[in-house]
Amino acid sequence: MTVVKADILRAIHRIHHQLADLNSRLQRGPRQLQANDASVAKLKEAVDTAKEAVKRNRILTDQKELQLKEREGRILDVRAKLNGASSNREYQAFLEQIAADEEANSVLSDEILELFDKATELTAKVEDAQGVLQKGEKDLDALRKKIEGERASLEQDVLRLQGELAELEKQLPAELKVDYQRIVKVRGAEGLAQLDGDTCGSCFTIITTQMQSQIMLEQLVFCKSCGCILYKAESEAS
Ligand SMILES: [Zn+2]
Repeated sequence: MTVVKADILRAIHRIHHQLADLNSRLQRGPRQLQANDASVAKLKEAVDTAKEAVKRNRILTDQKELQLKEREGRILDVRAKLNGASSNREYQAFLEQIAADEEANSVLSDEILELFDKATELTAKVEDAQGVLQKGEKDLDALRKKIEGERASLEQDVLRLQGELAELEKQLPAELKVDYQRIVKVRGAEGLAQLDGDTCGSCFTIITTQMQSQIMLEQLVFCKSCGCILYKAESEAS
């Protein structure tokens, strides 16, 4: 029977848990940054969309102002023709044309004024979107610095624990090492379990009385159900 100290297995198991926790925290940082990067990209899109609306409004205003000027020119032309009218009927036709153009331009002027108001509103929206974007970029920058700082410290912890783990693993019996490496490679911290009363602490299968006795005697026992290495609870340590 291979004998393996429960204290060693317990310490190894604890370090595997700590390493798993550190690694999950190390992975969380980049995921958080990725999500925030996507948010900032959306804020940039919002600024572009707001700017595009200002541009479209300006183009429309320019078109209407051009139309207004063209019609004003036409009114002046027709006015100049008034005195040279060949008949009263032609004179009346000129007057009617002038009145129609003036009426149309009055409507157009109102529309242009509305577009001016809209331009003010749309410009304010661009400024708002730019403000939100700036804040988003600042927050992202702060988050990146925080995560980089944490990563340095987490990586140091990982190195320290890996060193401690290697030292503890040296104390495992030689005949266990191959099985141990195979199990923890696949299952990590779940490759070891403390005996919990009469069940495996990992899969909760009931362990035979004979196996329980072997575990109490610090003999090497694998759970028949989940295959993990079992060790006795600390309160039952001799
Ligand atoms: Zn089990």
